[in-house]
Amino acid sequence: MKDHLSKDSSRGPKKRGSGDATPWHARTVDEVERVLETSRARGLSESVAQERLSIFGRNEVAETTKRSLLSIVWAQFQSLIVFMLLAAAGVAFAFGDLPEAVAIVVVVLLNATVGFFMEWRADVALTALRREGAATARVVRDGVERQVAASDLVPGDVFVLNAGDRIPADARLTESKELHVEEASLTGESTPVAKGGELVDVESALADRTSMVYMGTVITEGRGRCIVTHTGVHTEMGKIGALIGEIAEQRTPLERELHRLGNRLVVVVLLLCAVIVGVGLLRGNDIVAMVEVGISLAIAAVPEGLPAVATMTLALGMQRMAKMKALLRRLPAVETLGATNVICSDKTGTLTKNEMTVRALQLAGRRVDVSGVGYVPEGKFSVGDAELDPFQDTLLFTALKIGALCSDAQLEERGAETTVLGDPTEGALLVAARKAGINLAALASEYPRVGEIPFKSETKRMATLHRLPDDRGFVAVKGALSALLPASESQLISGETIAVSHRTREEIHAYNTALAGEGLRVLALACKETTRWNDPFTLDEGLTFVGLVGMQDPLREEAVLAVHRCREAGIRVIMITGDQPATAQAIGAQLGLGRNQGGEPLKTVHGRELSSVAEQDWKELVKEVAVFARVSPEHKMRIVQGLQDNGDIVAMTGDGINDAPALKQADIGIAMGIKGTEVTKEAADMVIADDNFATIVSAVEQGRIIYGNILRFVRYLFSCNLSEILIVFIALIVGWPLPLNAIQILWLNVITDVFPALALVFESASPDMMKRPPRSPQEPILSGRLMGIIGAEALLICCATLLAFWVGLTRESEAPEVGTRYASSLAFMTLAFSQILHAYTSRSQTRSAFTAFFSNRWLGAAAFLSLFLQSLAFYVPPLQETLRTVALDSEGWIIVALCGALPLLTIEIVKSLRRGTLLRGG
Ligand code: ADP
Ligand code: MG
Repeated sequence: MKDHLSKDSSRGPKKRGSGDATPWHARTVDEVERVLETSRARGLSESVAQERLSIFGRNEVAETTKRSLLSIVWAQFQSLIVFMLLAAAGVAFAFGDLPEAVAIVVVVLLNATVGFFMEWRADVALTALRREGAATARVVRDGVERQVAASDLVPGDVFVLNAGDRIPADARLTESKELHVEEASLTGESTPVAKGGELVDVESALADRTSMVYMGTVITEGRGRCIVTHTGVHTEMGKIGALIGEIAEQRTPLERELHRLGNRLVVVVLLLCAVIVGVGLLRGNDIVAMVEVGISLAIAAVPEGLPAVATMTLALGMQRMAKMKALLRRLPAVETLGATNVICSDKTGTLTKNEMTVRALQLAGRRVDVSGVGYVPEGKFSVGDAELDPFQDTLLFTALKIGALCSDAQLEERGAETTVLGDPTEGALLVAARKAGINLAALASEYPRVGEIPFKSETKRMATLHRLPDDRGFVAVKGALSALLPASESQLISGETIAVSHRTREEIHAYNTALAGEGLRVLALACKETTRWNDPFTLDEGLTFVGLVGMQDPLREEAVLAVHRCREAGIRVIMITGDQPATAQAIGAQLGLGRNQGGEPLKTVHGRELSSVAEQDWKELVKEVAVFARVSPEHKMRIVQGLQDNGDIVAMTGDGINDAPALKQADIGIAMGIKGTEVTKEAADMVIADDNFATIVSAVEQGRIIYGNILRFVRYLFSCNLSEILIVFIALIVGWPLPLNAIQILWLNVITDVFPALALVFESASPDMMKRPPRSPQEPILSGRLMGIIGAEALLICCATLLAFWVGLTRESEAPEVGTRYASSLAFMTLAFSQILHAYTSRSQTRSAFTAFFSNRWLGAAAFLSLFLQSLAFYVPPLQETLRTVALDSEGWIIVALCGALPLLTIEIVKSLRRGTLLRGG
């Protein structure tokens, strides 16, 4: 038997599928089971699956193209900046200045090393995230259903299919219910095809092989089970080499803008440097020194690392968010999150816990209350104070029976703990039946299920067909009242069936409103009998109405707080639900959704009204509504578009397959990690692992932090670079000797600029960040205001440095033997010192640099490291020689300290004046 499955066996599954033997679609399930040595009920055993994995390899179509380390290294040298540096080294070498040439080459290497580590770090983070977001499949192994990575599937594996799944491998169906698959990616046919287990003709084309499902195609409705026949490159999809669910690499808008900014700066800087060199020559400075200084300034001022830093910051941010259960699928999403100003959230499971408990039943004129906690199957049924015996009360018993029969969920009672597998709404009905003492297994065998109409959010109802002992059929129906009541012609009242009058309909609606007003989720129950179990039946007429069930779905505690935080942060929260308006409104009020607009009651809209809203009125409508109830997936799409027409940046959640288009349309499409289908996850920008609304809000906060940090970095780097240009420029104009030489500028560029700047991207949240409205997406990175600030800060640093230089020059007359080397050393050290301090100022534009001074440990370490390296330049003889410094005496240090602290003090005084704290003495 073994040789069937060995890799080179001619009778192995791969060969069979490829034509020389009967193909899988034309074989019976029994045959498939036999050849693949598996069982449709129990699947493979774990050990056999492992063995086959080593024979057949992973179920992957193409190796994900991973960047090699070498290519990252190479990328570091493919830049303008490197050519400029090498040119500078060439100039130095040509004029016999060997130490300078060597120093520049060292600078090139250092630059490349820093760049390499940033890109490599970003790459590692992104690869890890991609692995985390990989597709999964529900396989049956050793008789138990479990989730495995889709890449672990092997031929012979049995897996389960549900609406919204992307099929993970080629497989032969063993059973199916209403299964429809969209195979456009494979056959080009865009309307879903019905699939079933029956044999099809050997000759049939791919598109007609209805007994098979193929990797990469999508289940649009129904469910099924199947046996894997081919995996990886041997699948139909693998043969044509198509990639599935691939995450496209894109530059984010921020990266693009930084790139543009960088390019523009190159031009400006080159012009400036040309002017500087020209002025220097006119002033009679040494040609070589001037050209070197010009080139060094250009190199220092061009922010070559900007896009790389942005990428790294975004990637690390993504990684941090993943730890907080928000998995981002695209890099640009990080920044968009920070600008989000509307969140459209599902109610059930996202704002609420999706842990349903039946609280009450409305049976004809009686309201039956149900006690008990959660899924524990213990509780009592009572009308007023009188307890009911469910086995004596036919109507109650029938209602509970319908609820238990019309269900795909399962209860797992293990000791004291009960868990629900499947839909919690259905689980709650099972628990209610258990509270009444109904034996679910016995019920299922007494009423075997022979047919079903699955739940769809469009129809809002579900039915199961059961065969009675006398061969009649019994249809159990549950769903929204609006879906069931119009089709109900009679009503069950304690054992007898009577016609429903217009008045009773009104009454039932009133009961529904009452239950919904308590925030309960209401389901209607109905049934129908057919003369023969295999007669066709419809749910559109002839139903017998049985009653209403009210279920409680508690709010997530953290959701209330998260909604509050959103309001403070200028983010609107809109609740979107398939549930009815009254229930939605009650839940919305508990969440405090509508309270923002001056205490007005929150505005709720029924999905029915949406169909008649004219295109031009949408924009206005979406401005006011806080709750959309009875919404179907196509409404979601229009809601997103309406909001976007108003210029809003919209985040929207979704779980079902029909939500995918709306998620794609939204600026941030959010899929649910637990409830969500594979297809919605693929369409989404973000997957939240715990389905929790609060996680979305935390992700928005992270988005803001990350964007803010990139901005800090930009602001810091630009003001430092500009200060260096100004120093040289002003010195030339005034007619002083050059305060800085070329190699000093390069040294600063690599040693002191890099570390504090990088540390700034690790700033944590500032306390007021979620108290401000989101940034406008149209706002450029460098607004006019910000450019003004950068200019002013650069000027301050420049003045401080020139001051130190001037003091040095005047003191030099006392010690003429050192030339300008002493003054230049003072300037060099002052510049480094004030730039390092400037990193602290750059942490916030409003908050003082001294609040939470030590909170960013990276910055502390970077400042220390930079100061240390800078001191080396003054006290280690070879460096001293190359950088033309002299060891500072204590007086020199005092000058450096005073001048270096000047910009920090000035900026902090301005900040505190603006805060008004200085004037009020706070
Ligand atoms: P939401 O997830 O926003 O609460 P759904 O689309 O799941 O909305 O449900 C919409 C309505 O469909 C519910 O109010 C309920 O009346 C009905 N419904 C929900 N789940 C089921 C189910 N499993 N079987 C029958 N009807 C259901
Ligand atoms: Mg739902």
